[in-house]
This record gives sequence, C-alpha cells and structure tokens, in this order.
Amino acid sequence: MAKRSVVVVGGGIVGCLTAMQLRKQGHAVTLVERNIIAAQTSGESSWAGAGIAFPLLPWFYQDVVNELALAGARAYPAVSAELYAETGIDPECSQSGMLIQPPFDQQQAIDWCTRFGLEYALQGGNLLIPEVVQIRNPRLLQSLKAWLIKHGVILREQTQLMPLQEGGAPITRWQTTTGDTLSADVFVVTSGAWSFELLKQTASSLDIKPMRGQMLLYHMMPGLLPHILYRDGFYMLQRRDGHLLAGSSLEDVGFDTGVTDSMRQEMLQKAEAILPALKGQPIIKHWSGLRPGTPHNIPSIGRHPQIENLYLNTGHFRYGVTMAPECARRIAALLG
Ligand SMILES: Cc1cc2nc3c(=O)[nH]c(=O)nc-3n(C[C@H](O)[C@H](O)[C@H](O)COP(=O)(O)OP(=O)(O)OC[C@H]3O[C@@H](n4cnc5c(N)ncnc54)[C@H](O)[C@@H]3O)c2cc1C
Repeated sequence: MAKRSVVVVGGGIVGCLTAMQLRKQGHAVTLVERNIIAAQTSGESSWAGAGIAFPLLPWFYQDVVNELALAGARAYPAVSAELYAETGIDPECSQSGMLIQPPFDQQQAIDWCTRFGLEYALQGGNLLIPEVVQIRNPRLLQSLKAWLIKHGVILREQTQLMPLQEGGAPITRWQTTTGDTLSADVFVVTSGAWSFELLKQTASSLDIKPMRGQMLLYHMMPGLLPHILYRDGFYMLQRRDGHLLAGSSLEDVGFDTGVTDSMRQEMLQKAEAILPALKGQPIIKHWSGLRPGTPHNIPSIGRHPQIENLYLNTGHFRYGVTMAPECARRIAALLG
C-alpha cells in the first residue's frame, strides 16, 4: 500500500536515486523529465560528468560537502551491485583510487585524510587515496531507469513543468508546458541547473546557476590508467573497456551548452602533458554539461520553508554524482 504520492521533478542522477529511495519506502512515485532519462540530450549534468565519486582536493571544501560526498561515495559499491543484479546493466563501479600529483600541499592532504579516516600512500611527491571509486555515469542512469520501470515508478518523459507561481500554500497541481497538470501529496525538485528558473518566484534566495563543463574522450588500451589521475585542476580516468576521459572546464556562460575549439586545445595540451601516450590519438568525443553551481558547492536538501509539501534536492555543483545516494537517503528519511 503506497504511503504518499510523490512527484520528483528532474530525471538526472539525483532525481533517479531520489525516486528509487522513495519507491523503496513504499511511496507511489512519478518522475518527470523534460527530455529522455539516460540519454545525452541538452546539457544535463548527470550524463556529462566523469563519475569520480570523490571531491577533487577535498581539503579545500567545508566539512558538510565532504561528509555528503564520502557518505554518497561509500554507498556506491552496494547501489551499483544492486542495480546490476536487478537490471543486468552494470554501472561499472570500480575502486580505482585517485593519484594526486603536485602541486598540492602534502601536509594539508595528509592531515585531511587522517581526520576523515582515509588511507593514503605517498609515492614520491604523489599522493594515492586507494578508497576512491569511479562509476560509469551514463550506465548508472540506464540501470536506474530500468530499476525504476521494473519497480513501478511512473516515468513522465518529455514533460516539462512550468515555473512555480508565487504563494506559500501547499501545491495541489503543478502545470506542465503543454497545459496538463500533475497532482501529488509531495513534490521534490531535483532539476539541477534549472532549479532556480523553476522556483525563483517562491525561493528567491536559492543560489543556483549553470556552470559549464567540457570533457574529452579517447580510446586507449585498457589498463593504461590504473588510477584516477589529478593534476593542477585537471583529471583523467579510464573505463574498463579503455575509454579514457579527460577534463574538465569550469565556465560561467549561462545555459550555453556548446563546446569550443579553444577549450578542446587547452584540454588536449593538458592531457598530453600528463599522459604523452595520448599524442596523436584521436579525440573520439567532445561534449559539455551544465553543473548546478552553488556557493561553496553546498546543495539544498530539505523542505521548502513556506510550502509544506515541496522538497528540494538540488545544487550539488561539482559533486552531484558523488553525493546523490546520500542526499536521496536524506530526503527519503524526511518524507518517512
Ligand atoms: C563535465 C562534468 C564533469 C563532472 N564530473 C563529476 C564527477 O566526476 N563527480 C561528481 O560527483 N560530479 C561530477 N559532475 C557534476 C555532476 O554531474 C552534477 O552535480 C550532477 O549530475 C547533478 O545531477 P542532477 O540530477 O541534479 O542534475 P541534472 O543531471 O542536470 O538533471 C536535472 C534534470 O532536470 C531536468 N529538468 C530541468 N528542468 C525541468 C523541468 N522544468 N521539468 C522537468 N524536468 C526538468 C533536466 O532536463 C535534467 O535532466 C560533473 C559535471 C560535469 C558537467
């Protein structure tokens, strides 16, 4: 017997994991997505990301960010195994570890690892954190979609909700761009970079804006990069089948989802400097995604202060893949 009807608005990783968690708790869940879930369409962050389940140089972030990130990251091996077993689609969660190359403050890094209880190894001037996992985010989305369908979550794809109008009363109906309305006991906004556009009439202090990230893809011999590699604001990682990602940019260009030749060149040069074997290798794909950018990378997770049946789970900026399992768990705990 369903407890409550819930509409989750936005079918990225945060929305899919929130829908999964709520469904497991017995709620009747509808997931609304203006595009197609798990497809690369126009700018959604979850497909475009690298799938590193760890903050880059975590000692630069506040504890709240690292706590959400570590709890989310530590959930991934079990989440991934469950999704694979139930759907046959492997999200490829692998504990590759992260190798951080100079420049970085070694003492600051060691102090942080010690405080958060993470093992580390110094290799020359490099720091290896073996616990770090990567997840193949487009596969994760596919397996989540299959799980949601299998467990009776209603997917309303190609359905876009209109910006919510002013008012503090509970939402009874939320209008779509085609004039339909959706009803539910509870609404959860997981609309990534578009969350402020959706809520600005009712949550003017919500500080979320798109921050574009571009990424390059190569294909190399599997096993070339045993660890996720980070150097000076740039990273590379390899999937099991040899696909190798290099990125990423961080650009404040509004909702522009394009890619640029200048950034392609800049990233290519950085990638080749770190891994000379890439010289002369073709770039097989170049894409961008819009991160839900927030001050200090701190997301909004919880109930709207005035509208009692509206919840937010958004604004995860650079670490939404990492944080999503933990943020979904927290929203589900609030809803009961
Ligand atoms: C290049 C790049 C690399 C990254 N690398 C990493 C990484 O290694 N690790 C990590 O943890 N994070 C990484 N990130 C960040 C991470 O991808 C995001 O934080 C995360 O995907 C945000 O997920 P989301 O579900 O909130 O947003 P999205 O994936 O953007 O999903 C929001 C969804 O809401 C839908 N939507 C919006 N408005 C409406 C509406 N009105 N009605 C219906 N649907 C709507 C959108 O179509 C979209 O599908 C990276 C991002 C980029 C761009």
